[in-house]
Amino acid sequence: MKSAVYTKAGQVGIEEIKRPSIQEADDVIIRVVRACVCGSDLWSYRNPDIKAGHKNSGHEAIGIVEETGEAITTVKPGDFVIVPFTHGCGECDACRAGFDGSCDNHIGNNLGGNFQAEYIRFHFANWALVKIPGQPSDYSEGMLKSLLTLADVMPTGYHAARVANVQKGDKVVVIGDGAVGQCAVIAAKMRGASQIILMSRHEDR
Ligand SMILES: [Zn+2]
Ligand SMILES: [Zn+2]
Repeated sequence: MKSAVYTKAGQVGIEEIKRPSIQEADDVIIRVVRACVCGSDLWSYRNPDIKAGHKNSGHEAIGIVEETGEAITTVKPGDFVIVPFTHGCGECDACRAGFDGSCDNHIGNNLGGNFQAEYIRFHFANWALVKIPGQPSDYSEGMLKSLLTLADVMPTGYHAARVANVQKGDKVVVIGDGAVGQCAVIAAKMRGASQIILMSRHEDR
């Protein structure tokens, strides 16, 4: 399959790599419909020590379930899903308490990335995949992009507004105007903020 790879600092290429396969009973193989670039991908992109062929750090995607492990009961081949970046097993104490980002069985936020490829191997799939009604062809391009934000930036921005306990009528300051900051603005608005100030060091924004 084709995958984006880092070729050197500041450069990305496409390489043919081995297509992932089911390795655990609760694995799912997903055919990527859309994947996106996160601010955190720039850490690798800018890393002067990055070696040619280093796999991409992509971790945000929407796609179609292609194949399921034998323990999978929540999704089936053909389902359209959001593939969230941070996810736990759903069964340990941390997950049960709602802190699935600190899952006791965590094996990295996203199996080490590689979502900017044709197929993804996704572990803990029973717990973590979010089904989207219908199929990609039922949605406009704009809507597909909006659904894609639910893999990371929008829930991350929303989480910030929630832990800040933004309530109706509050005045809110969001520090940083990247994708997550802009989603935090949307979230603050959703939660009823009366005034939202977005701080930036970019003149053009
Ligand atoms: Zn991300
Ligand atoms: Zn867990």
